[in-house]
Amino acid sequence: MVARITCPHCGFSAEERMPDDACLFFYECKQCAAILKPLPGDCCVFCSYGDQKCPPKQTFFSLTFNDDRNRSQT
Ligand SMILES: [Zn+2]
Repeated sequence: MVARITCPHCGFSAEERMPDDACLFFYECKQCAAILKPLPGDCCVFCSYGDQKCPPKQTFFSLTFNDDRNRSQT
C-alpha cells in the first residue's frame, strides 16, 4: 500500500510505501529533513501524517476491542 505523508513542518508531501506488517515510527522529510514521529496515541507516522491509516493499526484495534470484551465478561 502507498500513502501520502505530509510534513507538518514544511508542508511537503510525498508518497511512501507502507509496510504491511510493521509500523513506521520515523520518517525523514525529503524536503526539510525533519524527522517525523507518531503523535501521541498514533502507532506510526502514516497514522499521524499520512492520508491513510497503516494496515497494522486495524489489526491492533480489533485485538484491543476483543480483549476489552473478554475482560468485562469475567
Ligand atoms: Zn518537511
